[in-house]
Formats: sequence, C-alpha cells, structure tokens
Amino acid sequence: VALAGSAFVWLNDVRNRIRPRRFAANRVLLLLPHCLQRQDCPHPVKDNIANCQECGRCKMKEIKQLAARFGVKVHVASGGREAVDRATAKDVDVVLAVACNKELAEGIQALFPKRVVGVLNQWPNGPCKDTDVDMTALERALESVVKGGRKA
Ligand code: SF4
Repeated sequence: VALAGSAFVWLNDVRNRIRPRRFAANRVLLLLPHCLQRQDCPHPVKDNIANCQECGRCKMKEIKQLAARFGVKVHVASGGREAVDRATAKDVDVVLAVACNKELAEGIQALFPKRVVGVLNQWPNGPCKDTDVDMTALERALESVVKGGRKA
C-alpha cells in the first residue's frame, strides 16, 4: 500500500520521539533547501553557507549563526536528488532536514534507515520562493539530536 507523503513524515516523527538519539555535532548534517535564500541574493550559499554575507534579508543569516553555535555541518541543496546524495555520505549519521512535506517524505524514504529529523519550511510567498522557517523549531530540533547541545 502506498503511503501518502504526510504519513511518512508523521511515522518518521513518531520514530524519532519513541527512540530519540543524539549524535556528535560533526556527524550531524543540517540540510537546507535553496529556496530559503532570497531569490535576488547573489551570494553562492549553495557552494558554502559561509558565503552568506549576513545582511538579514532571509533566514540564512540566523541559520548560519545557529549552525556555528552547534558545530554542525550545513549543506544548501539545489534539488532533492542532490540533497539525498550529500545526506548519504559516510560522514553523516543524522540529517536535520528543512524541507516541504513532499521533499521531506521523499528524503526520508531515500535515506532509510538513516535517521532524518524534519522541520517543515513555510511558504509566505508561495511554493519554492523566498521560503521561511521557524527558528525556534529549528533550534529545538538541533537540541534534540546534537550530543551536548549548543557549544556557545
Ligand atoms: S542573509 Fe542576506 S546575504 Fe545571506 S543569503 Fe540571505 S539575502 Fe543573501
């Protein structure tokens, strides 16, 4: 029986709650969709989030700072396939993925049994354009997976 995307996301959430696990910060990958970046921003955060100039017009600034406080790896993905390729790598034990319901469901299935913790992004400007994320939810999710929590 094919499960709808939201059912996968829900089941995955249940798995994380029933069997919570924490990992060393350097084994955690924070995976971000490219649509979180302002569309008119010229800085290549897909190459490296360090390229964000922290102007504050989108959440990349706060996410870059939050990831540094936790000491986790960050990857800004241009698409689902590329995101899965990065998340499959051996240096990653757990993926904290910011994504829409559809991409999250596909990622959970593609990466299983690797652990994925999902935080849904928000669409104040419609799908895939200048999207947003709740920073409190993201910080809570990081605290739930990173051993020792924040470093600073
Ligand atoms: S915070 Fe500013 S510099 Fe950084 S990605 Fe967003 S728009 Fe670009």
